[in-house]
Amino acid sequence: MAVQVTWDKDVCIHAGNCVKTLPQVFKVENGKFVIEPSAAADDRVRATVAACPSGALQVKD
Ligand code: SF4
Repeated sequence: MAVQVTWDKDVCIHAGNCVKTLPQVFKVENGKFVIEPSAAADDRVRATVAACPSGALQVKD
């Protein structure tokens, strides 16, 4: 099973790193931010979460 990723919209500073780094997982659809962790390898999802500058993204273990 893919890792679970949570996103806190009040913390996100919309730096866009996640959507630029892994667009197949982090994307905006119909104006809503969606996360599809199964669309990439776990380690890539984890690395992108770790690179989020605001801490809005978290991996649930
Ligand atoms: S990387 Fe973090 S701060 Fe930047 S858009 Fe994604 S969730 Fe928001």
